[in-house]
Amino acid sequence: MVEKTEQLYEGKAKKVFATTDPDLVIVSYKDDATAFNGAKKGTIVGKGVVNNRMSNYLMEKLEERGIPTHYVQELSERETLVKRVQIVPLEVIVRNIAAGSLSKRLGIPEGTPMKRTVLEYCYKCDELDDPMVNAYHILAMGYCTQEELNTIATMALKINQFLKKYFASINVELVDFKLEFGKTSDGKIVLADEISPDTCRFWDATTHEKLDKDRFRRDMGGVEDAYKEMMKRVLGE
Ligand code: UDP
Repeated sequence: MVEKTEQLYEGKAKKVFATTDPDLVIVSYKDDATAFNGAKKGTIVGKGVVNNRMSNYLMEKLEERGIPTHYVQELSERETLVKRVQIVPLEVIVRNIAAGSLSKRLGIPEGTPMKRTVLEYCYKCDELDDPMVNAYHILAMGYCTQEELNTIATMALKINQFLKKYFASINVELVDFKLEFGKTSDGKIVLADEISPDTCRFWDATTHEKLDKDRFRRDMGGVEDAYKEMMKRVLGE
């Protein structure tokens, strides 16, 4: 039996604990919410439970489809056993419909369909506000190797193909989302972090109502209800 030992790290939305197995850690999801790189802070009651359970459900589905992930076992409503990885310091953004920073930067109204999927990379660095980088920067700075970047891009697009269809089946448009990848002790690239309303833009496919963290970022109200609705559509409860 793997036992939880000391806390390794506390992030904005999760805590990470070591275990008696050096290759496994436990993540514990909090209800704390931040936006704009921590400038806006709050609590979304029940968010930790929704994000933990939804992310685990989706990672199980992705594993079944041959995408390696860090997921090992759900331990409780808020806690999950995952493989210990070294996080590749990139936020990998996948976009199907224009929204958020892309809409602002390129002057395209939110909701505009695009001719093809857009992949973006941001260097994970709070002090620098996660600046956008391209493949040249990534290789020049050594954030990962060319081979790892190829793997990451291929995996991100495959994940998008599955998630887009899956969310469409529960009447949700997957507008965009952020992925993080990690390297296991044997050097394999796996999907890490989470897939949740914190990290994806979900719009109801009929009404286009927002069912994600944008309700918190933009002070729209109904934040908890949106998370609950996504949990209901994904997990049926
Ligand atoms: N995203 C995220 N964490 C970040 C930045 C973005 O999970 O630190 C997600 C966000 O929820 C959205 C997608 O990545 O689904 C694209 O975000 P965008 O670049 O438009 O930034 P935002 O408008 O959220 O600042």
